[in-house]
Amino acid sequence: MAAGLFDLSGKVAIVTGGNGGIGLGMARGLAASGASIAVVGRDEAKSAAAVADLSKNSGKAIAVPTDVTDEAAVAAMAGRILRELGRIDILVNNAGINIRKPADQLNISEWDRVINTNLTSAFLCSRAVHSAMKEAGGGKIINIGSMMSIFGASFAPAYAASKGGIVQFTRSCAVAWASDNIQVNAVLPGWIDTELTRQAREQVAGLHDKVLARTPAARWGAPDDFAGIAVFLASPASDFVTGTAIPVDGGFSVMG
Ligand code: NDP
Repeated sequence: MAAGLFDLSGKVAIVTGGNGGIGLGMARGLAASGASIAVVGRDEAKSAAAVADLSKNSGKAIAVPTDVTDEAAVAAMAGRILRELGRIDILVNNAGINIRKPADQLNISEWDRVINTNLTSAFLCSRAVHSAMKEAGGGKIINIGSMMSIFGASFAPAYAASKGGIVQFTRSCAVAWASDNIQVNAVLPGWIDTELTRQAREQVAGLHDKVLARTPAARWGAPDDFAGIAVFLASPASDFVTGTAIPVDGGFSVMG
């Protein structure tokens, strides 16, 4: 194996929603491989705890309080990270929310909140880091989709639309920025035990057991299950991988 295939020493990674759940699981993996981490989220107490966690073992971590739906705030966030950490090599567009109602019951502001948080934020953050990556000679963008990038979701139409959109946005940026040596890929999580799905389990009767029955691995995923895919997609190991959407789902998406 080539030396340094998974080495992220000296690299700087932004993880939106990196203060908990899947984002923190990915940030832990990136930090363990040597990257400095900028944790981007709104909840400052949660972000401070994540920074303390990430700084425990290895490199530098900072919190950059930002609402990723706010265009000016996203531009300021990228500027601050460049000033404080000196470069931007990796962006994980992970921030996300869900509002669970069928389309006939969803109002326009609920639709907009979900689309803006899950999809428009990925556009804003990717656009904000593109020039820094291009000037540095390359970069890695990892977008977080969902099983609902593939399957319909009767109870989550805006969420499914945003996650379908993430896959096409990923492919579009992969094609556009390949000549800048920026690889852009999506990760599609299965059912993972986080705050987001704890809420879903309270709202959707029988969900916990249905997920177990349909997941070949016979368990819910954990945030730490995302450390490996984050390191792979952020490191030289994936330099010829771009525009893909990789399920990390214990087999959920291939279950007949
Ligand atoms: P969590 O609720 O634990 O994490 C969501 C994160 O998004 C939080 O860190 C939150 O931080 C951040 N966030 C939300 N809105 C904003 C905003 N406007 N600005 C900045 N940050 C924001 O959920 P998960 O870890 O489960 O979800 C992470 C991603 O994975 C999401 O995109 C989700 O759709 C996706 N996913 C999750 C699955 C699962 O089973 N858990 C399955 C498939 C996909 P803060 O509140 O501080 O702003």
